[in-house]
Amino acid sequence: MSALILDGKTLAAQTEAELAKRVAIVKEQSGGQAPILATILVGGDPASATYVKMKQNACKRVGMESIAVEMSEQTTTEQLLEKIAELNSNPNCHGILLQHPAPPQIDERACFDAIALEKDVDGVTCLGFGRMAMNEPAYGSATPQGIMRILEGYNIEMAGKHAVVVGRSPILGKPMSLMLLNANATVTICHSKTQNLPELIKQADILVGAVGRPEFIKAEWIKDGAVVVDAGYHPGGVGDIELAPPVDRVAAYTPVPGGVGPMTINTLILQSVEAAEKSLL
Ligand code: NAP
Repeated sequence: MSALILDGKTLAAQTEAELAKRVAIVKEQSGGQAPILATILVGGDPASATYVKMKQNACKRVGMESIAVEMSEQTTTEQLLEKIAELNSNPNCHGILLQHPAPPQIDERACFDAIALEKDVDGVTCLGFGRMAMNEPAYGSATPQGIMRILEGYNIEMAGKHAVVVGRSPILGKPMSLMLLNANATVTICHSKTQNLPELIKQADILVGAVGRPEFIKAEWIKDGAVVVDAGYHPGGVGDIELAPPVDRVAAYTPVPGGVGPMTINTLILQSVEAAEKSLL
């Protein structure tokens, strides 16, 4: 069997071309004002700084602008809340991205939840999560929403399939599970206290690895014909799933890199453009 490569990089590039056109229309309709994403980076973590830069570059590629907010490592929750309130009330700011993780003294949940629903283009608020879970309009958490877009883009059948999600973080595993449930999959959610993980993974028609440990999910646990989605990215270019050996016996898989990563940023940008379009209605 030759596995289908779920090529997030190409899908993201195609979407960017469409988004550039939509951005041009927004600009035209708003007297030259491009959609604006505000990025908030707190502290000096180099990986976070790189992610924020990549998001700002993606904005540029489609003709959007960004407001780059950089705050010191010593920032307090109150100072961050004040900044978010300021961006919430700025009519020229259409989306707000607070880069995770914030330094430990910050109440990150309180800060995420302070983002106005209509500007929550990274899908991090409890309100947005709840609405998404209830199938009400809301921006999905960017990584799982990006994964759904890949699965839909490649016409992967989800209804009635057994999806196994390994990981239950607020930004990834948990929303991923509910999105798959809403797509009528039968969903098993696994985490660090799960027993018999290999047995559960062996039942997966659709497997999502979101564990944060390099090649933690072993090739021999994956059943023939499964659709394999790997959210992880670690030094050396490996993901959370040991992928190389089963590649010829799975039905489809996301490559690492070039699978989930590009679709996460692309989803953030897509949802920012949608927010700007809605602001004109
Ligand atoms: P996280 O917050 O660290 O969560 C990891 C999850 O894995 C937790 O729910 C944890 O369970 C579970 N886990 C840990 N050890 C386990 C074990 N032995 N067996 C089963 N489950 C276990 O990580 P995250 O933010 O969700 O990220 C997950 C992965 O996705 C990472 O590799 C990260 O780099 C990647 N990621 C990629 C993107 C992208 O854009 N491509 C974006 C975000 C994240 P507990 O809840 O019980 O602790």
